[in-house]
Amino acid sequence: MKNQIQLGLLIITLAAFLLLGYNVYLRETTPPTQSYSTFLLELRQGNIAKVHLRGAEITGTDRIGRAFSSYSPDLGGLLPLLQEQEVEISAEPAAETGTITFFKVLLPISILYALWLIFHRRKLGQRSGLGLGERSRFTPVHSQRVTFADVAGIAEAKVELQEIIEFLKLPEKYSKLGAKLPKGVLLQGPPGTGKTLLAKAIAGEASVSFFSLGGSDFVEMFVGVGASRVRELFAEAKKSAPCIIFIDEIDAIGGKRSGNASSGASDEREQTLNALLVEMDGFSSDEVVIVVAATNRPDVLDPALLRPGRFDRQITIGLPDLKGRSKILQVHAQNVAVDPETDLTTIARSIPGFSGADIANLVNEAALMAGRHNKASIEMDDFEEAKDKIIMGIARKSIVVSEQDRRITAYHEAGHAIVGLMLDETDPLHKITIIPRGRAMGVTQQLPLDDRHTYSQTYLLNRIKTLLGGRAAESLVFNRLTTGASNDINIATDIASRIVCEWGMSEAIGPVAFRHEQEGFLQEGGQFKPYSEMTAQRLDQEVNRILHDCYETTYELLNQHNKFLHKFAEVLLLNETMDAEEADIVFRSYLREQEMERRLCGIRSEHPTP
Ligand code: ADP
Ligand code: ZN
Repeated sequence: MKNQIQLGLLIITLAAFLLLGYNVYLRETTPPTQSYSTFLLELRQGNIAKVHLRGAEITGTDRIGRAFSSYSPDLGGLLPLLQEQEVEISAEPAAETGTITFFKVLLPISILYALWLIFHRRKLGQRSGLGLGERSRFTPVHSQRVTFADVAGIAEAKVELQEIIEFLKLPEKYSKLGAKLPKGVLLQGPPGTGKTLLAKAIAGEASVSFFSLGGSDFVEMFVGVGASRVRELFAEAKKSAPCIIFIDEIDAIGGKRSGNASSGASDEREQTLNALLVEMDGFSSDEVVIVVAATNRPDVLDPALLRPGRFDRQITIGLPDLKGRSKILQVHAQNVAVDPETDLTTIARSIPGFSGADIANLVNEAALMAGRHNKASIEMDDFEEAKDKIIMGIARKSIVVSEQDRRITAYHEAGHAIVGLMLDETDPLHKITIIPRGRAMGVTQQLPLDDRHTYSQTYLLNRIKTLLGGRAAESLVFNRLTTGASNDINIATDIASRIVCEWGMSEAIGPVAFRHEQEGFLQEGGQFKPYSEMTAQRLDQEVNRILHDCYETTYELLNQHNKFLHKFAEVLLLNETMDAEEADIVFRSYLREQEMERRLCGIRSEHPTP
């Protein structure tokens, strides 16, 4: 891009110099013009020495060597006069004058043409969304088709995208039914988890063209160019619809709009974002253009992007778990010569926290190691060596979690899960993972069965207990407290205080609502409290009591079932992720063991040993 501009400037400067030079040359060589009558007068007075006739155009010099030019309306009458004065005559046909005129016209035209070419080519480049040097990035992916088979370990995302592929393949089928086709899919997840790959695979599976652009490409440009790039990109894409537009790092343009007076850079970003929103709203239903965007910072996105009809489908792609890593390893191992003795699952187990890109890198590094040792195939120790090298790199980025932290996280999440499983009226478990995501070391997800709007007291108390289960498990097993539970405790406290102050569920306080704070009523001294200091104390005490009671019960529950806790945590440490079904299997096997033990106890007590 820069080179292009420099070249353009150079050519313009050159052209300007040429034009200037030509003009000077013309002025130097074309002598002052005389009227024909002056010329005749001079001629008659015998002042003319030489004449050159180019058609009716007369140039020549007088006796003292001054050049002049004139134009004759009557050549026939002129010639005898010239001869009479013994003037030296030379002549050329009039047609020849055309050459100079021709060049006079041609030169500026050719310069203009050259300039036009430069700008036109730049424009062409822009229309497809890139500068001249980057043209290759825009070639449709057909040439090097990526399919779902190339993307491993994200089965859930694939299922969700299946529908989009259907739309792309048979848009008429859906538009005939009057269905509004989806427009945008937001892939969110840490870098290197295969978002780009997945977007390409959607295009590959549906056999449609793939346009791609990085969000930051838009922004590091002149004001207004980002927005026009967006429009040009969409215009180009619509021509080859159905197709996919992939926008990587959409947070670069899609960050929250500031609203207040802003700097030039964010102005440009907002213009670009607005252009994108306008384009996305503007498709008609017969143009199937699906915009797939990727980000690892969904939290900073402008809410306008996530509204219906825009990126209303959001798919989260996390770091792969053990199964995922095994599958990704398999995919990449296919492309290199791996020794058949190599146990890919063992390798996968030893690289928690690796992303898909890290694994691709690992396989490549291992191949390089094997090459360095002159081996015919990649063996286990090549993987080991490559792994150490990569982990050192990653550790610097502090993604890899220490073994101790993993254990604590596993028990913490197991604590949540077990309490949730053992108590009534809780939301069913959905997924438990000890793979770090964002700032969370692990996650236990519960899905509400339905969107309830009223909650029973039991539900709320059990929810508090489930939240405190993480901390209780940590303290039970490791006898120490970590900060990992701070978010849980925050939420639990919030629920407890609403039980007391908002929902009037506490017996000690009764069915009275105490609003803690009112918007706009905040006074300088702090919160606005429409009740006495005494009442405040009683409320605080009651909230405290609920939390303490819940914690006690939870701790006891986990203590009583600590075998289950250990078992659950071990499974988590091994598999890193458990879904509801797997958790249920562990739960049932624990219940069965318990049943057996109880029976054994029963037998023992029936036949007491002497
Ligand atoms: P992102 O866009 O999420 O940053 P990429 O799609 O660019 O990640 O992934 C980079 C590379 O890592 C891919 O080209 C591929 O080789 C590898 N990779 C990442 N995730 C996967 C996966 N799930 N399956 C197979 N390969 C993967
Ligand atoms: Zn927790």
